[in-house]
Amino acid sequence: MTTLRLILGDQLNAAHPWFRERRDDVIHVLAELQQEGRYVKHHAQKLLGFFAAMRAFADALIQAGHRVHYVRITDTDAALGFVPLLAKLAQDYGAEALAYQLPDEWRLDRELDGLADATGLPVTVHDTQHFYTTREAVGSFFGKKQWRMEWFYRDMRARYGVLMRHDGPEGGQWNFDHDNREKWTGDPAAPVFPSRVLDLRNVWADIEAAGLPHFGNPRADRFPWPVTRRQARADLRDFIAHRLPYFGRFQDAMSTQSPMLFHARLSFALNTKMLSPQEVVDAAVVAWRDDPARYPLAAIEGFVRQILGWREYVRGVYWAKMPGYTTENFFAAQAPLPDFFWTGDTDMACLRHAITQSLEWAYAHHIQRLMITGNYALLAGLDPDAVDAWYLGIYIDAIEWVELPNTRGMALCADGGFVASKPYAASGAYVKRMGDYCRDCRYDPTAKGDKACPLTGLYWNFMRRHPEKLRRFPRLWPVLKNAQARGEASGPLSAPDKAPSE
Ligand SMILES: Cc1cc2nc3c(=O)[nH]c(=O)nc-3n(C[C@H](O)[C@H](O)[C@H](O)COP(=O)(O)OP(=O)(O)OC[C@H]3O[C@@H](n4cnc5c(N)ncnc54)[C@H](O)[C@@H]3O)c2cc1C
Ligand code: SF4
Repeated sequence: MTTLRLILGDQLNAAHPWFRERRDDVIHVLAELQQEGRYVKHHAQKLLGFFAAMRAFADALIQAGHRVHYVRITDTDAALGFVPLLAKLAQDYGAEALAYQLPDEWRLDRELDGLADATGLPVTVHDTQHFYTTREAVGSFFGKKQWRMEWFYRDMRARYGVLMRHDGPEGGQWNFDHDNREKWTGDPAAPVFPSRVLDLRNVWADIEAAGLPHFGNPRADRFPWPVTRRQARADLRDFIAHRLPYFGRFQDAMSTQSPMLFHARLSFALNTKMLSPQEVVDAAVVAWRDDPARYPLAAIEGFVRQILGWREYVRGVYWAKMPGYTTENFFAAQAPLPDFFWTGDTDMACLRHAITQSLEWAYAHHIQRLMITGNYALLAGLDPDAVDAWYLGIYIDAIEWVELPNTRGMALCADGGFVASKPYAASGAYVKRMGDYCRDCRYDPTAKGDKACPLTGLYWNFMRRHPEKLRRFPRLWPVLKNAQARGEASGPLSAPDKAPSE
């Protein structure tokens, strides 16, 4: 009896039990489908990265003796959805059973749920064996209690014995955030980026031939992202050796001199499952145990929290809140996305830099995403649907389960404070404190009049536009009082309908 097993483009987990034994009665199906290339307009590097990694994964399976059916984006079958494709292949191969791994996206979960009915064949569903927790674990952990990442994270540390002693957390505290707020001024030197380049012009030719919409610089002849597990492992080693020691200190820093500073740049390899979260966390902890003088505990804890804490947590939020999460809009924001989000063409140096970098590299680090583009989108009242589509398209690591809670929840607070304990709203003073963008800007956070920083204006405008909604966040009460006093001095205001400096 032949079985077809579907492997999605973000399920490139070579350690999955499926691949432990070679079986002649199993055919693995990988497919570059038009629907996946079009559900949002993707950055060119995102299309290239996924397709190249899928092709490399299929080649590795074949070399290991597994049977594979691969659909390229230029094949006729690429026009099908997953269900019709599997139905067709089941007929072609005379297959009598189907199997797939749990998708991480709601959209694909719904689509594949109809597989048995559509084909009339028995279908088995397997775990991806990637995450620490199940889809439902975070929801069960909180139940009706208030969801706060920190409590979940501490439980995960204790449950998996990560950075734990017999009497509590290593270093006597769970969180070293207060040590992790330094501005970077050039010492240590910025890391080399990228560390390796690939020639993917053959994959790019197929994407162009298939007519997939795209934007951003493809860098097909000098591709900067890993597309095999071996390359992903090399990137992990590179991060541990050169950047992890400084990860904590400069975690919130921003610089025109370096697109990634001391961040890991591992999210694409993690989200496609070329790397497992456990191996990344373990590698960081081992580095610290072997050489605590080089690897400060604050750096290791800060890094572990991103993966063991935030990554698992946002996945839990996604599965607890879908499908309604895609329509949350607490601030009733509706302004259109300014054109400069697609070009970087704006006088605001912070946005110009973060967006241009994203178009060039399909990458921005967390603080650029949250406190530059995200902060602007929040303050300017941009429509969350448009903002979501932009984030989902532009970053190489963007898959809805992780993009949506970060964008709607963390950056836009469109869920009314479910993910973030308060809106991450900041004026120009914050941007100046954490980076060097203001140096190149025609505006100035301390100036008034023509040179006044648009972000600062938007910040106070935002506080005054939503006094009732913002009152639910006690940490904002002093700011609201200040905003009210400023408002009395300057008169009534309305929501901006046009982005400044477009
Ligand atoms: C508005 C917005 C949108 C985002 N969209 C995505 C997205 O589509 N895909 C994505 O993987 N991350 C997203 N993030 C989270 C985070 O910005 C990226 O994971 C990170 O920038 C990836 O770069 P890095 O590998 O250098 O991460 P590092 O800063 O070095 O962190 C290490 C790892 O921790 C994990 N991580 C860190 N922060 C988060 C977080 N908030 N949520 C989940 N995992 C986290 C990632 O796997 C990351 O690779 C978003 C954040 C914001 C504010
Ligand atoms: S002055 Fe304002 S707009 Fe210009 S870079 Fe600084 S924060 Fe951004």
